[in-house]
Amino acid sequence: MMHLFMPDYTIGLDLGGTNLRAAVIDASGTMLDKIGGATNFTEGREAVLHDIVTAIQSLRDRHGAAGLAGIGVGVPGFIRIKEGYITNSNNLPYLENFPVRDEIERRLNARVVLENDANAAALGEQWMGAGRGVDDLVLLTLGTGVGGGIISGGRILRGFVGMAGELGHTTVIPGGNPCGCGNRGCLEKHASATAVSAMAQMMHLGADLTSRDICALAAQSDDVGEKARAIWRVMGEALGVALANLVNTFNFPLYLLSGGMLPAWQYFAPPMLEEVERRSFTYRATKNETRIAQATLGNEAGLYGAAYLPRVEK
Ligand SMILES: [Zn+2]
Repeated sequence: MMHLFMPDYTIGLDLGGTNLRAAVIDASGTMLDKIGGATNFTEGREAVLHDIVTAIQSLRDRHGAAGLAGIGVGVPGFIRIKEGYITNSNNLPYLENFPVRDEIERRLNARVVLENDANAAALGEQWMGAGRGVDDLVLLTLGTGVGGGIISGGRILRGFVGMAGELGHTTVIPGGNPCGCGNRGCLEKHASATAVSAMAQMMHLGADLTSRDICALAAQSDDVGEKARAIWRVMGEALGVALANLVNTFNFPLYLLSGGMLPAWQYFAPPMLEEVERRSFTYRATKNETRIAQATLGNEAGLYGAAYLPRVEK
């Protein structure tokens, strides 16, 4: 096939806890192609590496190697950015302390930018989502855990190793619930879907309730509804403490929240915003210019961000 004009594209890959997705996105941010599905994460390192490389290869074959301008890969866990490996990942223990990036580059014979998935999601929102036109923002992803990404001057804030933005493990309650990271009272122990579900169980609303279930219960006008709303209040307050610290630290104009708990926004946002207002002088002084809002790309933010990585990390 001959094209007079070969548009350049990048490939973004998002490795989640249970699935792998990859997309072809052009320079204007249009998604041209997308593949994905469940991956067998229990089969170990070789199986996952094979799935990653095969997904990228098939997209590159479909769209032509000549137009490929770069590859970005978002993975869960702490990333050592210079070395290109993951040091701590609950979901992918067998990828830890292994040169993941170099191995993918070797198999594809192409340059790969490796990044933490929440950092990639923050970059995606900045490029094509709720953060368009904003150079400085924070994204909190509210899922089974709480992830964070900080975009400063249009670039991911990485820290000297690549571990900056682990906002789910900032302390919001000094003597709070213990966390797998070794700390107590981490944001994700009080504001994740897992935390909300645990609170529902403690309040005898039911075992294994999802955040969606608890959101539905909060609409009830009875005793159960009151308990469910109390859970969202606690969750909102924990988020508010974290956001107040972020506003004080960064004085950014935008803080975005994403994840499966957004449907409960009407219940947790008011106590969250009250807490931010109470605790942050910077917020009170900039109230009309500081926005705390919902992200808009959903679970595609990581794909957009991964695809944008090669364009901003030259
Ligand atoms: Zn923690």
